[in-house]
Amino acid sequence: MGHGGLPRTADVVVVGAGSAGCVLAERLSRDPARSVLLLERGPARWPSDAVRDLRTLPITADSGYAVQHPEATGLGVVRGSGFGGSSAVNGGYFLRWHPDDFADWPTGWGLDEVTTAYDELDRPGGTMGVSAFGDDELSDAARRFEDYWGQWMPIRPPDDPWPIVGVNRVRSNRAGMLRMTAAEAYLRPAARRPNLVIRAAEQVDAVVASGRIVSGVRLGDDVVDCGEVVLCAGTLGTAAILLRSGLDTAIGGDVLTVAEHREVLVHYRTRASGSRTALLQSVVHTQDDLEIRCYSADLADYIDGLVPVGPAVGVAAMRPGTPGTVRLGATGAEVDLGAVAADVADRMANGVAAVVEMLGSSEFGDLVDERSVTVDPVIRTSQHAWGSMPMGSRTDPQGAVEGVRGLRIVDGSILPAPGRSGPHATVMMAACRIGDLLTSAR
Ligand SMILES: Cc1cc2nc3c(=O)[nH]c(=O)nc-3n(C[C@H](O)[C@H](O)[C@H](O)COP(=O)(O)OP(=O)(O)OC[C@H]3O[C@@H](n4cnc5c(N)ncnc54)[C@H](O)[C@@H]3O)c2cc1C
Repeated sequence: MGHGGLPRTADVVVVGAGSAGCVLAERLSRDPARSVLLLERGPARWPSDAVRDLRTLPITADSGYAVQHPEATGLGVVRGSGFGGSSAVNGGYFLRWHPDDFADWPTGWGLDEVTTAYDELDRPGGTMGVSAFGDDELSDAARRFEDYWGQWMPIRPPDDPWPIVGVNRVRSNRAGMLRMTAAEAYLRPAARRPNLVIRAAEQVDAVVASGRIVSGVRLGDDVVDCGEVVLCAGTLGTAAILLRSGLDTAIGGDVLTVAEHREVLVHYRTRASGSRTALLQSVVHTQDDLEIRCYSADLADYIDGLVPVGPAVGVAAMRPGTPGTVRLGATGAEVDLGAVAADVADRMANGVAAVVEMLGSSEFGDLVDERSVTVDPVIRTSQHAWGSMPMGSRTDPQGAVEGVRGLRIVDGSILPAPGRSGPHATVMMAACRIGDLLTSAR
C-alpha cells in the first residue's frame, strides 16, 4: 500500500468518479477476475440530499463538491468533484441529442447502438430515473414560454425521448426533486464488490508513460501500476492529466482545443414569486441550432453568492464555430473559451431579439415588469466543455488514445461532434456503450 493506503497495482485504474467514471467502474468490475481501482479527487462521502436537491446548484468553491478553473476572460468555469462528479451538481437536464447529431460519429456508433445505450439510462424504469417535468410541476415562466412558442412550433410529446426542432419539455434525471447522480445509479450498487476499490480524496497528477506505453498513474511520489488507465476525469480534468504526462505529440501538443455552448442571458424583473422548482424545465430548439432556455427563476436563487438580477432566458449556440483552448497552468487546466465566430454571434443576436419580443408579448405581459428587460453584454458558458480528444481522430471509437498503448479516455473529452442538447445524457450514453464493448471483448 502507498498514498493513504492505495493499492500498488490493479488491472484497470479508472480516474474520476463522475458521470462517465461511475459507469465504467461498474461495468469493468462486473468481471470478478478484473481488479478495478477508482480514484476520485473529491470528498469521500456520498453527496447528501441537500447537495442533490434540484432547487440548488452547489457549485461555489466552498461547497466541497465543485472546482473552479481559471478562464481567460474571467468567466467562472466550474466542474463537479466527488462521487457523481458534475452529475451531482448540474442542472438536472437530461435530454438526448438529436438523431442527426450522430451523423459524424465514427464507425460503431449507428443510431441503433446509440438508442440501446440511451435506453438503459432514460427509458421508463431506466437507471437514471429520467422523467419529463409534468404540467403540474412547471414554473409560471416555463408554462408561459411553452404557450408562446407552441403557437408556431411543434411541441414534443413528453414521453418521446428524442428532442425535436420545436418546444422540448425538459427530461430530468431525478428521484422526486433529488438529482439521480451517476454515483447513485452505478457506483453505489457496485461499491461492495471485492474487486472494486474506490478511493476518494486522491488526485491523479499524470499517467506513467514510457514512450507510447502507459503503465500506471502517478499521485505525488506514488505510482499505481496497471494494465490500462481509463481517464474519466472530465474534459478539463482529463486535459490536465494528459498535459502533465509528457504525451505531447500523441495528444497534439501542449494546448488542447475544447468546444462549448456559449450563451447570452436576457434578464427581466418580475413581481411574481412562485414556488421554487428545478432551474430549467423547458427549452426551444431552433432551426438554426440555438437552444432557448427558460430558467425558472433568478440564477441567484440557485447559486450562492450571485447578485440577484432577475430571472433569465438563455440563448445558447449549440453548434459553436471556433473552439476554445485548454492549457496547463499553475493550478491545473486553464481555459480560454475564445471569441465567438461572427456567424454564430449573428444567430445568437437573432435569438436574443426573439426572446426580447417574447418577453414583451401578451403571454408574459403580467409576469415581466415593464421596461425591465436587459441583455447581458457578456457571452457566457453553459459549463458543457467537451471534445478535446474526439473519437475518430485523437481517440478510436472506444476511446483508446491513438498510438498509445494502455490509455483510454471515456468522458466528455471524446464527444466527436457538437450536439443540439446539453451533453450529460450523451456522455453517459457513450460510457454505457464503451463499457459494454469492453466487457464483452474480454
Ligand atoms: C454546473 C454545471 C451544470 C450543468 N448542467 C447540465 C445540465 O443540466 N444538463 C446537461 O446535459 N449537462 C450539464 N452539465 C454538463 C454535464 O454535467 C457534464 O457534461 C457531464 O457531467 C460530464 O461528465 P464527465 O464524466 O465527462 O465529467 P465529470 O462528471 O465532471 O466527472 C469528472 C470526475 O473526475 C474527477 N477528477 C477530475 N480530475 C481528477 C484527478 N486529477 N484525479 C482524480 N479525479 C479527478 C472529478 O472530481 C469528477 O468527479 C453541467 C455541468 C456543470 C458543471
